[in-house]
Amino acid sequence: MERDQILGLYDWVLGVCFRHPGEKTDTTVIKTLRPQFDPEKQIRACRPCILVMEAARRAAAEGAGIPYVPGRAGDAL
Ligand SMILES: [Zn+2]
Repeated sequence: MERDQILGLYDWVLGVCFRHPGEKTDTTVIKTLRPQFDPEKQIRACRPCILVMEAARRAAAEGAGIPYVPGRAGDAL
């Protein structure tokens, strides 16, 4: 699957990437934290980070012998 196809699986809005907190860029939500006593918090990632995470998920899925399903960067596999 091509990079653009993978990135097209996500919705992008201006925000702050969890790995690049100093700058605003296009980001997508990869996880929503719901602490018991605090407001909900969204974890966002930018395009380069999503591609890194997807590559890691792909390698992990191949290593585990299970199908790689892109578009769920917040999941382990
Ligand atoms: Zn990033």
